[in-house]
Amino acid sequence: MIVVFKHFFYKNYVGLSLWPFIILKEDSLKTDEVLINHERIHLKQQRELLILPFYVLYISEWLFRTVLYLNSYRAYQNISFEREAYANEKDMQYLSKRKTFGFLKYLTR
Ligand SMILES: [Zn+2]
Repeated sequence: MIVVFKHFFYKNYVGLSLWPFIILKEDSLKTDEVLINHERIHLKQQRELLILPFYVLYISEWLFRTVLYLNSYRAYQNISFEREAYANEKDMQYLSKRKTFGFLKYLTR
């Protein structure tokens, strides 16, 4: 389910998934297939981890990598959930062929 909230976003971020919603900064982004696919990958990750543990793991991995890289943006980009989403967002068939816990292989790279 896609909703638009203009005043919700920090810096350059334009989309966010909070199961079962994909939240976008602008209406026009609804036609951005790559962005929507990226957010749908996150919805799938959230659902298979029963939602709440996803956020706990996401934030833990982000904190851990922030200490590791001393760079919060680089840390964000390297969270396994983000690595999986960025690596496959352009593949519109990805979600139909993805294996459960597909983010795990992006934990180490
Ligand atoms: Zn993402």
